[in-house]
Amino acid sequence: MTQDTSSDGFVYLVGAGPGDPSYITLRAVQCLSQADIVLYDYLVNPRILQHVRPGVECVCMGRHGVGKIWKQDEINAECLRLAQQGLHVVRLKGGDPAIFGRTAEEVTALDAAGIPYEIVPGITAAFASGTCVGIPLTHRDKASAVALITGHERTGKDESAIDYGVLAQFPGTLVFYMGVTTSRHWTSQLLEHGMAPSTPVAIVRKISFPDQVTLRCTLEEVTSKFEGDNRLRPPAIVIVGDVVSDTSVQSWFESRPLFGQRILVTRAADQAEELAAKLSDLGAEVVLQPAIEVLAPENYDLLDEVIGRLPEMDWLVFSSGNGVRFFMNRLRECGHDTRQLTNAKIAVIGPGTAAVLEEYHLQADLMPDQYHAESLVEALSGSVGGKRVLLLRASRGRDTLQVGLQEAGAVIEQVVVYRSQDVTQLSISTQEALERGVDWITLTSSAIARSSIALLGEQIQSMKSASISPITSETARKLGFDPTVEATEHHLDGLIAAILEHQQ
Ligand code: SAH
Repeated sequence: MTQDTSSDGFVYLVGAGPGDPSYITLRAVQCLSQADIVLYDYLVNPRILQHVRPGVECVCMGRHGVGKIWKQDEINAECLRLAQQGLHVVRLKGGDPAIFGRTAEEVTALDAAGIPYEIVPGITAAFASGTCVGIPLTHRDKASAVALITGHERTGKDESAIDYGVLAQFPGTLVFYMGVTTSRHWTSQLLEHGMAPSTPVAIVRKISFPDQVTLRCTLEEVTSKFEGDNRLRPPAIVIVGDVVSDTSVQSWFESRPLFGQRILVTRAADQAEELAAKLSDLGAEVVLQPAIEVLAPENYDLLDEVIGRLPEMDWLVFSSGNGVRFFMNRLRECGHDTRQLTNAKIAVIGPGTAAVLEEYHLQADLMPDQYHAESLVEALSGSVGGKRVLLLRASRGRDTLQVGLQEAGAVIEQVVVYRSQDVTQLSISTQEALERGVDWITLTSSAIARSSIALLGEQIQSMKSASISPITSETARKLGFDPTVEATEHHLDGLIAAILEHQQ
């Protein structure tokens, strides 16, 4: 509606799409990145909240069993209150805000108070079914129309506004929202009004989420799927009609190789993204549980002094991407830039470290064939005799490089550029995931393996595990845990390849 021209309060009613964090609009991302506060529905995938600025409060409007469940009046009042304080409020809703999203009520309250607003569309749950389930809602031969129907009419309505006689004859696809607990009612209404008991039906729970479930049955069987011990729980949509039996479109979503696999990614928080994204793209449900924390060194005295003498060095050796980042940041903080490195050659332990170096427009002069310390020593040993070699390292880890290069005749200096520390408590989302069952854990270094085993205790024994290298596996074995698979190539893609091979 009105354009935002001032610093006055403003409300954005934003659709978050069906769940997959990439199924949202650019406008939604813009609104989230400018929000002062976000009020979000429980259906919204919390990963979408990654677009808000650091420190912005995101309040969940309620999820059964967790915290307060806000009533619609309270939500309206809270939006108003915040907007009246001059804040930009994002009211984030699952799917499309205007499909069973009570947008009319929220907007009426805003209008009455003279608060400007904008409505940002989203992909409604049903409309993701072509993509995620392989059921296109319309079909040239089987359905020329679609009806979106609520299975949960407002309580207190004397008469149903839904004409089941008309729906039973509807020449197209019916999609029921909020129809789980009420399935006995609406299915019997359709049957009573003459719809065939054998009409094909698909129930789709958590559409576009990594734990999406699709169940196909007939109209007369729907209720049995929502009752009993193993019943499907909300949120689910129910698709009714001939399109369900059409098999021309495959569900690429559920066919992805890691679909249905819940995987714990245990890398440090700021390093987990690449692995998490690759696993998600393959269909896995990723649970981030850093096993180690990466911190700045306790003091920079030694590093600063060495940075001043960098032109004396013949080789700089980095054994992790973190090492590169902390070192380069400190170099800059000390008032230098990469010209300070012009005399030295640079060795890295593997492609991950080389890639971080590239971010600073620096190329590694040497990388071993196998990405571990022993190999790096071997690769360097011919060229470091009598040379000054600076090892930029973590506060803990093996001394292989130092000892090996010293034996090769190098004049070694080592400086701690970052500290690594074990995480000792599981996050709430990890605890929830453990209750549901975790399929895999990734062990991407010895330190991570050691900390993960301590952190998860006995529970780790029930998971399959993927180790990045023989050294990591050996560390785990010494602690009584034998990894299920080990990467042949010791980098993230190698680790993923090992998991995929096992899953086949
Ligand atoms: N505005 C939302 C609908 C809100 S009503 C939209 O456009 O999608 C809540 C109902 O939507 C749920 O009971 C369920 O029927 C459906 N729903 C929303 N998200 C869903 C999802 N990811 N998977 C299955 N059903 C979903």
